[in-house]
Amino acid sequence: MNLCDLSTIKNIMKAFGINFRKELGQNFLTNGMVVSDIADSCSDDENATILEVGPGIGVLTKELAERFEKVISLEIDKNLLPVLSYTLGDYKNVEIINEDVMKADLASILAPYFEKGTVSVCANLPYYITTPILMKLLESRLPFEAITIMIQSEVADRLCAKAGKSDYGAITAVLAYYGIAERLFTVTADNFVPAPKVDSAVVRIRLYKEIPYKPKSEEMLFRTIKAAFEQRRKTLSNALSSSFGELTKDEIKEIIEECGHRPDIRGERLDISEFVTLSDAILEKIKRC
Ligand code: SAM
Repeated sequence: MNLCDLSTIKNIMKAFGINFRKELGQNFLTNGMVVSDIADSCSDDENATILEVGPGIGVLTKELAERFEKVISLEIDKNLLPVLSYTLGDYKNVEIINEDVMKADLASILAPYFEKGTVSVCANLPYYITTPILMKLLESRLPFEAITIMIQSEVADRLCAKAGKSDYGAITAVLAYYGIAERLFTVTADNFVPAPKVDSAVVRIRLYKEIPYKPKSEEMLFRTIKAAFEQRRKTLSNALSSSFGELTKDEIKEIIEECGHRPDIRGERLDISEFVTLSDAILEKIKRC
């Protein structure tokens, strides 16, 4: 059964009486080469367990099941369960869990697999919820080897931007704390049914086994990054002054200069290690106040 073939997809949907649910970001892949390239990219370890988010009718799930030891796939839409039993019935190494990834207890679901070997994430993510899913995966602190996701092309640019570039934002800096993101390839909108309005791209994030940055307080680091980007057009000192009521504007300027920057620098010029230094300095100053 070729799950990329348009008439096969339509026949399956008709037979099971289901429609594409736009509100769940259901844009299914229709290009077998793309599906195969995504599955090839997500891990080099054939004994790996792969966590998939949103199998749809199972097109990527099937490719993952053929390459890796185990696939655990979370699908929110219960109408797709009978379809997945039909399309993936022959793959005994696939487990479908009917849950919202945002509510799922990933640590419990994956605990036995982390004990056994490597676990990576691979998904054609629903676009309405890309950033919350990515943040949940990162903040879970689960030792994923890599996270390979298809997302909107412009979001991919943001995730992979270098400091100082226009696409660089709070999410870029936060992501750089957890690992190294790489844009692998673009997938144009005509490779999906229904076709989304914009092109997509595949990004692979290789997570650090041990985070190389050692902020004095992670909470202060993330607060500093958020503050720096909240008012993008402002200088860093103005942006931080609006968010850190504990400090005067002069104190903030002093901290920025002590960290080796001009006081009129903008937040988007700082890479993650510079944010760590800055947030440590802010923390020290607040403690001394
Ligand atoms: N993997 C399939 C493919 O590549 O053709 C489908 C990808 S489609 C872009 C996104 C899938 O995620 C849909 O099957 C949708 O029902 C599912 N989904 C949406 N929100 C979800 C959530 N919160 N938790 C789990 N699955 C979700």
